[in-house]
Amino acid sequence: MAMIVQKYGGTSVGSVERIQAVAKRIYQRAQAGNRLVVVVSAMGKTTDTLVQLANEISANPSRREMDMLLSTGEQVSISLLSMALQELGQPAVSLTGAQVGIVTEAEHSRARILEIKTNRLEKHLRQGQVIIVAGFQGVSNSTELEITTLGRGGSDTSAVAIAAALKASYCEIYTDVPGILTTDPRIVPEAQLMPEVTSDEMLELASLGAKVLHPRAVEIAKNYGVPLVVRSSWTEDPGTKVTSAAVDDRPLVNLEIAKAVDGVEFDTDQARIAMLRIPDRPGVAAKLFGEIATHNVDVDLIIQSIHDGNSNDIAFTVTEKAASQAQSIAEAIAPTLCEADIQSLEDVSVMTANDIAKITISGAGMIGRPGIAATMFQSLADAGINIEMISTSEVKVSCVIQQTDCDRAIATLCEVFDIASSSMAMAPTALNAEQHPPVRGVALDLKQAQLAIRHVPDAPGMAAKIFTLLAQQNISVDMIIQSQRCRVNNGINTRDIACTVAQSDAEAARLALSGIAEQLNFGEIEVNPAIAKVSIVGSGMIGAPGIAAKFFQALADDRINIQMITTSEIKISCVVPEEQGKQALKLVHDAFNLAGAAKVEVPA
Ligand code: ADP
Ligand code: ASP
Ligand code: MG
Repeated sequence: MAMIVQKYGGTSVGSVERIQAVAKRIYQRAQAGNRLVVVVSAMGKTTDTLVQLANEISANPSRREMDMLLSTGEQVSISLLSMALQELGQPAVSLTGAQVGIVTEAEHSRARILEIKTNRLEKHLRQGQVIIVAGFQGVSNSTELEITTLGRGGSDTSAVAIAAALKASYCEIYTDVPGILTTDPRIVPEAQLMPEVTSDEMLELASLGAKVLHPRAVEIAKNYGVPLVVRSSWTEDPGTKVTSAAVDDRPLVNLEIAKAVDGVEFDTDQARIAMLRIPDRPGVAAKLFGEIATHNVDVDLIIQSIHDGNSNDIAFTVTEKAASQAQSIAEAIAPTLCEADIQSLEDVSVMTANDIAKITISGAGMIGRPGIAATMFQSLADAGINIEMISTSEVKVSCVIQQTDCDRAIATLCEVFDIASSSMAMAPTALNAEQHPPVRGVALDLKQAQLAIRHVPDAPGMAAKIFTLLAQQNISVDMIIQSQRCRVNNGINTRDIACTVAQSDAEAARLALSGIAEQLNFGEIEVNPAIAKVSIVGSGMIGAPGIAAKFFQALADDRINIQMITTSEIKISCVVPEEQGKQALKLVHDAFNLAGAAKVEVPA
């Protein structure tokens, strides 16, 4: 007899008929002798409708009242589903998050789960009842017992957390698509089902815009080793398995906040090549990395910063051994990048630095916790270490620093994040392409804005100041990029820093930074909301040269200009103009042969 946690999304319980169909599925599984806890979302678009209602009354409603309002959506669906089960003769009981004891931080609209009490769940299970739990909501750990919500899409997180707390055999997420696909089928109907994906790959995909799973749900599945599967509510097909490495037993208290950083890694076998002032035109990155790939040189980090006038800087890292070859390739290609414009060729410069190291913190717990990157930057600043390059993903922050600072950086970060020992980054080895395709899936995020801070003095502590300030406003930052080029402004060396933030946070970020701009000697702060972020994800891209080049080439072929590039080991993200985002997604999906013959239809 298995203990199963299931979750049904909004579309799956969007009408009386669908609720009855879901009830039948649950009934059959219960009759087969399984114990079931079922988490449900609000019916259809209920949550969106409630948000609209609130906005008709207030442009900026209090987060507490929003939680009171939005949590009602799930209370409707749980009671109806429970009634439908009782009609079938299946004993069932519905419970709100508070009734279960889903205890969260007292942080409205984005609460993290601290603990899930299991006594009441166990009591009802012993009585042979199927339990229907309201997803997306909890109750605060304060004496006031405030109703909280976990953030949009949070029912997935409720389900996986309950599965972890009950040590369920597995957690099934039922939704309106056949499982996790190579991309969003609403944009690219030829998307194909992935029978399996690793939790690391899914974490990246989910945080880069694949909304089929809430990233925090993947985080919990990974940390607690919850077997997770995503399946269609309409068919019996097996769907997609999200696989995780075996994990040690972990306490169930402070479930979502126990540890933000799991590891500190370093790599001293790195050299950085920077190409400064290359033309800002479609095809430039494709040409450069295409040429590097033909020479079979593997590139690790790639960063392209915001452009300044009509030129760009691109910096990338390779192993020290490959540095001089990479430098020659970059120098040789410069004239062809500037074909029409001899003047600009004179401006281009290629610089190589061998005495650098990369230091990385990683952990699924840093998702949505903006203070973590800021803490890293601050600790390095406190140790007097200057950061030369920053590259981020949702689950990793890497900084390039001077090699001589590496030992001190490791000691500092291990202490600050309570990590017993650091590990040397493993040399990339090509993975079996069959099991680990270089690109597993692609994602599009249209909800980000680009924030540029010009002329930031080039001194330790500046990145820390900026990102601590944003963290204090609870603004999560993605794709932090520091320009490679130092420019002298008012007699001091400065760099530009760019990052992406949620569009809804962009104005708050601009205001906050404007407040300190004068005091810290920054230049202008610019916001561009009209961007799209297109990303490719796959663990097989480690040690496989040419993947970045192919991505950039696909965009270049359609004359799509790349505004920013960042990478982590298993993903590459490009910022492109917003209106070209969907087209870019399609092109890249095709370029990596991810399209299938059949089209996926998503029910309304
Ligand atoms: P639910 O209400 O069941 O939680 P969501 O709307 O939150 O459903 O998530 C499912 C939707 O996610 C799909 O309808 C699809 O449009 C979208 N989606 C985005 N990226 C992907 C992907 N890579 N695979 C599958 N679905 C995706
Ligand atoms: N109903 C909530 C939302 O629409 C939670 C969820 O569906 O996961 O965001
Ligand atoms: Mg969802």
